[in-house]
Amino acid sequence: MNILPKPFRIDIGEGGFSFRADGKVATDMPVIAAMFGGADAASRVRFRKGDTEWDYELKITKQGVTALAATEEGLFHAAVTLLQLTGGSLETDLPVCTVYDKPRFGYRAGMIDVSRHFFGVDVIKKMIDTMALFKFNHLHFHVSDDQGFRLRIDALPKLHQIGSERKGTCGDGEPHGGYYTKAQIKEIVDYAAERFIEIVPELDLPGHTRAIVAAYPELSCSGKATEVASWFGIHSKILCTGKERVYEALDKIFAEMAEMFPGKLFHLGGDEVAKLEWAKCPDCAATYRREGLKNLEELQGYFTNRVINMLKKYGKTPILWNEALNSGTLDKSAVVQYWTTDRPSAEKVKKAVQEGRKVIMSRCAPYYLDYPCGVHSLKAMYELEPLEELGKESEKGIMGVECPLWTEHVADAETLFRRFYPRALAVAETGWSAPGKDRADFMERLKGVLFLLDRKGVVYTPLDECDPGKIKSALQAAAFGMKMQRRCDPTSARNWRSMRLREPRV
Ligand SMILES: [Zn+2]
Repeated sequence: MNILPKPFRIDIGEGGFSFRADGKVATDMPVIAAMFGGADAASRVRFRKGDTEWDYELKITKQGVTALAATEEGLFHAAVTLLQLTGGSLETDLPVCTVYDKPRFGYRAGMIDVSRHFFGVDVIKKMIDTMALFKFNHLHFHVSDDQGFRLRIDALPKLHQIGSERKGTCGDGEPHGGYYTKAQIKEIVDYAAERFIEIVPELDLPGHTRAIVAAYPELSCSGKATEVASWFGIHSKILCTGKERVYEALDKIFAEMAEMFPGKLFHLGGDEVAKLEWAKCPDCAATYRREGLKNLEELQGYFTNRVINMLKKYGKTPILWNEALNSGTLDKSAVVQYWTTDRPSAEKVKKAVQEGRKVIMSRCAPYYLDYPCGVHSLKAMYELEPLEELGKESEKGIMGVECPLWTEHVADAETLFRRFYPRALAVAETGWSAPGKDRADFMERLKGVLFLLDRKGVVYTPLDECDPGKIKSALQAAAFGMKMQRRCDPTSARNWRSMRLREPRV
């Protein structure tokens, strides 16, 4: 049966049941009624709350359909499964069966980077709408980076006045900008909540903050004026760790973001911190000496734990990219998002998860959706099994899975959706379904649910382009590599890792 992600258990009976022509269902949840022909208390397709050990049970008999769940979220999942079973036509005979279902992981996410390219509310809502049809329950919203700050913070208005606008993109000379008002964020958050998706905002700190220091140069080490980055790559104009005004400004941002995003999770970034300016800064040096630190990684650790403590008063659980483990001092409450592909990082993440830290599996290869199919194929994404990477004993430590979509090279909505779908559905399946892969079965079910994307007018990569052969893959990989090089700031700090900065030189 074409259900994706694959349910935990299906007991198949004999015969079928057909919706009445109008396809109405008995539910008091408008979001479910809207998925079918509307609500009608007399319908033989009933959604009701009640006790069950499962996320939901969906029972289809010749007489009717009963969806049972203890929560509204469970009922929504049952509705999604039922919608998939219709195959796009409410006249279809549904097979007599009972589905017993529950998710493997509690965190199943996609990420959209709205900093490198800005996408309006309608695009974000369309993404949420479609993700919900495959039981994703989080959208990681990357709203701040070197190339643009995308929120309005009333206490720090230059963040949107200056930080949301750049002069061009990789030399094209065309200004690019945009930010979300508080009313727009509320619209997005509410829309997502109705579909049982939590928006996880990311304020990437302390690196990837050139848009913030362009707005408020006094928050950087040098205090010198700079512009919002118009090239990609890793930038070294970042927040200072030694100036108290940095923490005061961050607290103001946290206060407003915590209100805008009522969910439990809050991403603090922590990746790719080029510490070139820290190494020359007297304020960073003073912090370094006062705290008795041994290297610049520990200085990042000090900064990170301090902002985590600030965030705690808003009741949030922090998530950080896995480089945050490098200090060796990361606060125990922090969740780590594992993205890098190098062996030392893998060892650190493995050790952390075995010591009880929660980890999100998000490894760049193959989960980064900005790479073409020839580099990160649908097959590779489907076949990644988190336990094989992190060890059998890590099941409890794995909070879930996430496929990020960075947008350095994604400037329009069509490309955004084409990159996201259908590959993200492989990640949806890994996040929800019990372990054990069967690719042929997955592909059959995938074909059977794509009508949901067609119906929403979403353009996705055709299946025959999702797993290109060796030659096409090599060509795509070469072209993508060249594009990345060409669009990186020639003066960017992308080689900072080799610079062996161990402590401030002042
Ligand atoms: Zn500094």
